[in-house]
Order: sequence, then C-alpha cells, then structure tokens
Amino acid sequence: MPKVWTWTLFSYGAALVAGGLVGFLYDRTTLGVLTMALGLLAWQLYNLYRLERWLATGKIAEIPDGNGAWPPVFAKIQFIKSKVKRRGKRFRKLVKELRASTEAFPDGGVILNARHEIINYNQAARVLLGLKNRRDRGQRLENLLRYPDFVDYLNNPAERQAVDIPSPAGGETWLSCRLIPYGPEQTLLLIRDVSQRVKIEKVRRDFVANASHELRSPLTVIMGYLDALAEDDRIPDSWNQPINVMQDQAVRMRRLVEDLLQLSKLESGQSVPKDRVVDVAAMIAAARKEALALPDHPGTIGIELQSPANLLGEETELQSVVSNLVANAVRYTPPEGEITIRWTVDADGGHLAVQDTGIGIAEEDIPRVTERFYRADGGRARQRGGTGLGLAIVKYALRRHDAELEIQSRLGQGSTFVCHFPRDRLALS
Ligand code: ADP
Repeated sequence: MPKVWTWTLFSYGAALVAGGLVGFLYDRTTLGVLTMALGLLAWQLYNLYRLERWLATGKIAEIPDGNGAWPPVFAKIQFIKSKVKRRGKRFRKLVKELRASTEAFPDGGVILNARHEIINYNQAARVLLGLKNRRDRGQRLENLLRYPDFVDYLNNPAERQAVDIPSPAGGETWLSCRLIPYGPEQTLLLIRDVSQRVKIEKVRRDFVANASHELRSPLTVIMGYLDALAEDDRIPDSWNQPINVMQDQAVRMRRLVEDLLQLSKLESGQSVPKDRVVDVAAMIAAARKEALALPDHPGTIGIELQSPANLLGEETELQSVVSNLVANAVRYTPPEGEITIRWTVDADGGHLAVQDTGIGIAEEDIPRVTERFYRADGGRARQRGGTGLGLAIVKYALRRHDAELEIQSRLGQGSTFVCHFPRDRLALS
C-alpha cells in the first residue's frame, strides 16, 4: 500500500481512538467515536466539494491544497486535465488545418446525410452550386438540384459514375457531380467544373453536324448526275462499271452522312419524354420488312411477341434501334442462318432481343463494338456495307430512353443484342 494511504488510515484510526478516549472521560465513548467519525466525514465532503469546484471552474494551476490522501488525487487529476487540454489544443489545430485545406480545394465538396440533407460544404461548392450559408445548410439536395438525371443518380449512386448538370448558379458553367458514400450513412458529393470539356464536346458535335449537313447537298447533286449518266445511252459501255462503282460509293457516303447527323443529334439530347406511345409490334414488323429487302438476307427472320406492352418515347429513334440491330444481324449472318426478333416483359421491364446465328464477335471486341467506327472484323465489316456507326446510334438512342444494351456473342456461333427498357418506359394497356 502506498505510504500516504498507510499514514491516512493510521491518522484516521488515531483520530477515532482519540474521540473515543475523550468520550470515555465523560462516560460517552460511543458518542465520542461517532462525533469524530462525523468530523472526518465532514472533512472528506469539504475536500470533495473543493475538488468539484476546481474541476468545474478552476484553472489547472490553481490546485487545491489538502492533506491525507487528497493531494496525490488532486495532482493526478491536474496531470490528466493538462494532458486533455494539450490534446484538445492539438485536435482543434488539426481540424482548423483540415478545414483550411478543404476550403482551398478547387473542387466542391458537400457532405450529405442519409436523407440527402446538406451537413457541410467547402468554399468551392458554395460558389459552384450558389449555396447561401445559413439558408441552405440542412436543406435536402433534391430541393436545390432538381435535374431529373441528377435526382436519379442521387437515389441510385451505384448505377453510374457521375452526371453532368448545368450549374444552378447560372451562366455557362457545367458541373460533373460524383457521389462517394462513406461511413455508415454519409455521402460525399464531389463537384468539378467541366464547362471547358462540355464546350469542346459541343463544338465537336456542332462541327460534325454542320459538316454532315453541308455535305448533303453536293452529294445529292453528284448522285443525280451519276443516275443520269447511268441511264444515258450515249455513254460508252466501258464506262458502266466505273459509274456503278461511283454510284455505290456515293450511296455509302450518303448513309455515312445521314448516320453522322443522326448520331450528333442523339448525343446532344437529354432523356426523351414519356408522353408518346410507340407500337412495338409495328416497329418490329417494319424492321423485318426492311431486312427482307436487303441483299443476301437469311431465309428465316422470325418474330416472337411475348407481350402486348408498348414503349414510351420517340418512335423514329426506337425504330432506328431495331432497324440497326436487325440490319447488322442480316449483314453478319450467312443466308442459310436464322434471325429472331423477340419482345418480352417481366418485373424488371421490357426486353427487345435480336438474335442471330451469324459470325459472332470475339470476347475482347464485345465491349468496344458500340464505339464509333470500331469494327470487330476490320475491313470485312466495311465491305459488308456498314458505316461503323450503327451500334453507336443504338447506344445513344437507348440512353435517351433510359435503356441499356446487352451484347451476348460467341465467335462463329452467333450474337444476341438485348435492349433492356425500365418499367416506367412501358405502356401497359
Ligand atoms: P457496322 O456498320 O460496321 O456494322 P456497327 O456499329 O453497326 O457498325 O457495328 C460495329 C461492329 O460490331 C461491326 O463492324 C461488327 O464487327 C460488329 N457487329 C455488329 N453487329 C454484329 C452481329 N450481329 N454479328 C456479328 N458482329 C456484329
């Protein structure tokens, strides 16, 4: 036992004995012991009171004095108190530095809770989102950024990496918003100014659209003269072959120009409204009719309609999706092969599949075939008359309908292209 406790116990024992002796002199031994015990208790209470006051209000240096076991207790508490104070100081400094560094970030950062309420944000977020200090803290983010694309992303952050939105602060600013969930229920929203990238993309799209548009008229004139030359009896026979080649190339060029124009329109658009019903059966029948008019088409082009449901969206774009997929199936399937166009609906939504028994696509090419001008079999695909833009058009048209393209294929065994439409794109009669 530490010395101080031995001494304290001894002195308290001695005090009680002394109290008993004094009481004994007056024939009141018990009273004497009790009085002394009460005195000792009062002394402990007094020290406890001083300790409590010191902890609540006193400066660390103003340690209360005392005797017995109290001085070491006071000293230990003083030691802990100064340690906590030092740590608190260090912690506050760290928080200050951390805050200063996040304030210096060029990208905006907003901390959201599970209900998407704004907990905190840095200076860049304040500027980019046009947040007002008091008014917007605690607000739900959906109330400030009402763009449908962004709200969808906020509710399903796992479905994509980021979305681009115009800045609510106005001007020509575009923001890329990325959600990073962390901790049990919190999410960090990272905001980056991507106005420059969006501007460059727009310039590129506009250039392609304008160039394609400008090419249309001269091409029409050239095709007109070529048709006239082909029918002119005065032209020597030796010219027939070159004129036919020129006609084929001019047709190919017109298709390319049309596809480029269509792609640039699809790329720039947002989600298509759900206010128009598109007849799926009629769309599939039209694509089949076009396919049967193509040279060397497979003998069997079957249709399996397993649901009467229709789609909500833009008819020309959806028609272009089906026509492109069916035209590809014809292009890459030998005449003795088979093509099936299937429409099914389940709890997840509508699924439009175009299946063929054609040449198939190598596994490493599958993720790339929707890129512009990417051809899985190089020159051979070009010879088959494709522009190299069909699947890119399909991808962008589907994106505008909140749908996705799934490609299943095996080299030499055939391919299945499935368009998955969400349930809210279905017109269930
Ligand atoms: P293309 O005009 O060259 O067909 P697409 O964008 O439509 O361009 O297709 C890109 C590439 O994907 C094609 O060049 C081809 O290699 C491959 N592809 C597309 N559809 C099929 C299919 N049904 N079977 C096999 N390969 C296909």
